[in-house]
Amino acid sequence: MSKLPLRARLATSIGGAAGRVSRITGRGDGSVIGGVLGLRVEPDLLRLLAEDRQIVLVTGTNGKTTTTRLISAALSALGQDVASNAFGANMEAGLASALGRAPEAPYAVLETDERYLPAVIKSTRPRVVVLLNLSRDQMDRAAEIWLVARRWRQALAETEGCLVVANADDPLIAWAASSAPQVTWVAAGQRWMEDSWCCPECGSHLRRDELGWRCGECKFARPPTRWVLNDDTVIDESGQVHELALSLPGRANRSNAVVALAVAAYFGAAVEQALPLLRTVRSVAGRYTQVQRNGRNVRLLLAKNPAGWLEALDVLAPPPGPVLLGVNAQIPDGKDTSWLWDVDYRVLRGRHVLVTGERRLDLAVRLEADEIEFELADGIDDAIARVPAGELDVIANYTAFQQIRAVLGRTD
Ligand SMILES: [Zn+2]
Repeated sequence: MSKLPLRARLATSIGGAAGRVSRITGRGDGSVIGGVLGLRVEPDLLRLLAEDRQIVLVTGTNGKTTTTRLISAALSALGQDVASNAFGANMEAGLASALGRAPEAPYAVLETDERYLPAVIKSTRPRVVVLLNLSRDQMDRAAEIWLVARRWRQALAETEGCLVVANADDPLIAWAASSAPQVTWVAAGQRWMEDSWCCPECGSHLRRDELGWRCGECKFARPPTRWVLNDDTVIDESGQVHELALSLPGRANRSNAVVALAVAAYFGAAVEQALPLLRTVRSVAGRYTQVQRNGRNVRLLLAKNPAGWLEALDVLAPPPGPVLLGVNAQIPDGKDTSWLWDVDYRVLRGRHVLVTGERRLDLAVRLEADEIEFELADGIDDAIARVPAGELDVIANYTAFQQIRAVLGRTD
């Protein structure tokens, strides 16, 4: 910290003070407002705060927050402080604030918004960039994610001395990462394929078989991998197999964990050291949290886009366990609910399904079409009253999730 120029020190302390005021007055965790003010005083703040640190950037459509948390946990094996934007404030201000709050931490793991990745690479000069997946979000449809991939590709081509850790099973990720000088490919799997039927290189149809994917026309194909997720195990780069046995549920989290292990290994933390630390992560910003309420064990799952819903539906307790689905359409969710039609809800047949949220009628119409029986519920407490004592899984999109968390009391 003392090495920072005066102006950057001032910017950091002003930003820190603003963040504290914001927290005290209950206007959020303060990470964004602090960073915004800091950057106004010193526009170069992020670069200055990142200097001389080992920076890891984590991006992708789904799993950024969880993977950031898992990598931070894994790197704690090195016995040094790790800075992180654990609350998901993932644009420049949030990143500056995370670094400003931990001035002495030699490592930083930073969740980065997909659109900001090229700019953040430029200012933080990361040692590692993690690319998880790219799929349509409620905000951006297919054409825009191709544009994002193209910008990543340009930015990554100029990352001398930086390792890219990328999911080889996502063709768009593979294409974006293949411009980088140094890549560790991870077989992290891909459940959602609706956004990758075409070759990013030439536009022809991609072929898939048990060996992965390849283009039918050009030479573009799935690169050979060094880390592999194989059911509940990880095969490391030396070929050793380890049982994952995570506390976090679902295949998507096992794939995030394999990525975290690959990053940790690069910094010298062996799988035997890092894996027990990954198992200590039980919830991430309220996701996967289990809350006891009126004799029900409520488990919270966040799903922000079609690929996220597919992953969340995978995690449900076995049928006929009850499930509450919550859908809103506020600005952070996307105003348009047509994405509901991209998700296959038929796996819900035979379950006790409840539907809530501001756009529950849109969801109801969608479930009708898939011939799913359901009940409308007036919020989380009404849903709890409608199910027997025991488990209740909840899947909700962004603001619906936050509303349910607020009713249940914030828990991490
Ligand atoms: Zn091709």
